[in-house]
Amino acid sequence: MNKFIVVTIDGPSGVGKSTVAKLVASKLDFDYLDTGAIYRTIALHVGNLEGDSLIKALDKCNYDVVIENGIKKHYLNGKDVTKEIRSEKISQKASVIATDSRVREVANNLQRKLASNCNIVVEGRDCGSTVFPNADVKVFLTAKVMERAKRRMKELNEGRPNKDQIFNIDRIADEIKERDFRDTERENSPLKRAVDAISINTTNMSVEQVSENIIKLVNKEVATPHFLYKILCLLCRWVFKFLYKMRSYGVENLPQGRAIIAPNHVSFLDPPAIGATSPFKLHSLAQDYLFNIPLLKWIIPHVNAHPVSGSAYDTGVMKIIASLLRKDEKVLIFPEGGRSHNGKLLPLKRGVALLSSMTESPIIPVAIIGAYEIWPRNKRFPKLWGKLSVVYGKPIFWKDYINKYCDKKIAQQQMLNDLAKILQELQANFKRD
Ligand code: C5P
Repeated sequence: MNKFIVVTIDGPSGVGKSTVAKLVASKLDFDYLDTGAIYRTIALHVGNLEGDSLIKALDKCNYDVVIENGIKKHYLNGKDVTKEIRSEKISQKASVIATDSRVREVANNLQRKLASNCNIVVEGRDCGSTVFPNADVKVFLTAKVMERAKRRMKELNEGRPNKDQIFNIDRIADEIKERDFRDTERENSPLKRAVDAISINTTNMSVEQVSENIIKLVNKEVATPHFLYKILCLLCRWVFKFLYKMRSYGVENLPQGRAIIAPNHVSFLDPPAIGATSPFKLHSLAQDYLFNIPLLKWIIPHVNAHPVSGSAYDTGVMKIIASLLRKDEKVLIFPEGGRSHNGKLLPLKRGVALLSSMTESPIIPVAIIGAYEIWPRNKRFPKLWGKLSVVYGKPIFWKDYINKYCDKKIAQQQMLNDLAKILQELQANFKRD
């Protein structure tokens, strides 16, 4: 179980949820799920069936969403129905079948499955109140009916030569009211603001303004560490100070904004020592089997650890780290890829330099001194005494390397060479005061 971020954007028809949700998702580099498309596809599939025949037909409704040439396509049983599901007839039909609890159950399960493995913006009617009650950020959009009708008409007219002539705005407003009535009055999971959702009245706001507001909410949520994270850092600080007289140096070298924190790795003590001395919240990586251990599987996501299976540098993990860095987060990565057996620096893996080049994040070399003597790799338990020091070096910047060497691969290799040199120097020159 990873702590992926779920943002729900609910609201009535025509309020601009899709446009806003797509923009928010693209700016945050999150996935985007249009739950209305699921109801529309089911509506297309079941046609005019009712009662038990409708329910039987649900078993044979295979919905899928795929990206083709950068465009999201909706598939029903292998057929591309992206255009078909947008007709006004299907809009009405979807809102009728959406009142059925069994249809909702199928749609809800599908939504949870599609949103289970990524940071995502989900847009719909009951996403914050019912489908994702634990979403990290919940937003409820509203706007006056006439404004919504105008927006809907603009959408319907898009790409047509004689704009505003085919659709009658009063009729569209009536259809919106009719759908509002069905959505809010239905017994099963009606359109409803979740108690902890933030309401935004979009009547006089541009799409950009609404999106900016939502992005601010998400950034605030991401930047605020969970209370467990704060407590564990505090606890490690006290324990390490008490047992190992822990001291930190050069903390002022940590910049505001994104950064890759790259320490040498000799002991299980290293991650908590960094967490306890960094004034900023950090993300880290943890082996995925830890996410299956009772209690740990609940704690780990709250301390911003992300699962890795085997190598920390497989593409899925790289994508997660890159997206965190692009959101100006700080990520702790051990550049050696594992704990050293003898306390000496292992050859560094290319991943840190690659991430720095992909996201233009500075690398902060960090020397952890004394951890090997306290708890080396071959010992089951740590000593209860010793001296632990954490030395933060000056940041090294990707742009200095690419400007100097021009070739990406050479620049990455030079960056790694320098990182290794700095880590060794920090350790060799260290004198505890
Ligand atoms: O959002 P969109 O207009 O595409 O949704 C079509 C219909 O599906 C809505 O009118 C609503 O009745 C239903 N729906 C729903 N719950 C959702 C998304 C859509 O009931 N989460």
